[in-house]
Amino acid sequence: MPELPEVETVRKALLSLVGKEIESIDIYYDKIVEDKEGFQKNVIGKTILDMKRYGKYLLFELENGYIVSHLRMEGKYFYSENKPILLPHIHVVFRFHDSSVLCYQDVRKFGRMMFKKKEELYQTKPFIDLGIDPILCKEIEIWRIYDKIRKKHIPIKTILLDQSILCGLGNIYADEVLYASHILPTREGSSLKLEEVEAILNQSRIILSKAIEYKGTTIRSYTSSLNVKGEYQQFLMVHTKNICPFCMKTLEKKKISGRTTYFCKECQK
Ligand SMILES: [Zn+2]
Repeated sequence: MPELPEVETVRKALLSLVGKEIESIDIYYDKIVEDKEGFQKNVIGKTILDMKRYGKYLLFELENGYIVSHLRMEGKYFYSENKPILLPHIHVVFRFHDSSVLCYQDVRKFGRMMFKKKEELYQTKPFIDLGIDPILCKEIEIWRIYDKIRKKHIPIKTILLDQSILCGLGNIYADEVLYASHILPTREGSSLKLEEVEAILNQSRIILSKAIEYKGTTIRSYTSSLNVKGEYQQFLMVHTKNICPFCMKTLEKKKISGRTTYFCKECQK
């Protein structure tokens, strides 16, 4: 599943779309696009001014608002300058004035796309429920995050996955961040100290920045599109691993929020 670094990698690859005018959109699977008619009405004839990202969301900036796209499990974009893209599971096709084409492929059909006016983006779902993007939000008052986390009586791994306090971390990077912060993923939010919350934020920034530098992680559950292959998998410490690289003990594997979580009982407290 793409997390913040993988989505950032897709964003950078899609920067070549800036300046292109959307001539038409074909939607073959209605559920992927929220309010299909409204979406087409708002988007056709508009020019892509910029490609942005917040958390795991891609934002195609237009004159009148944003196309908001979430890739969920397996959503991928494919771009072609002039040749048709012949692939299975293509659900949305954007055609541009210069004859180039962008296709959205999604084998499992969990991805979602919608149009949001600029003024309503942060006032409505899904953005109203999103927490802080640790890469984009430079000035964060740590006590605000601490205050929210300490009210939660659920595992810190679950808190990180739910995106409402920090956003961008998914299963892979949440495991890596908690390992680097020496915090057990099973610890309740309410048990965390201020300095532990600070460690989570700092490690999130360090790990996500490095993963962006290496174009994300390519493991069996996620491969990127647009001919970009992530290489951060060589830096993974615990996720999908068997042995702790620090103490050499066998790592624990446990389901938390339905997601397989890797951690070291010795090094994480
Ligand atoms: Zn260890």
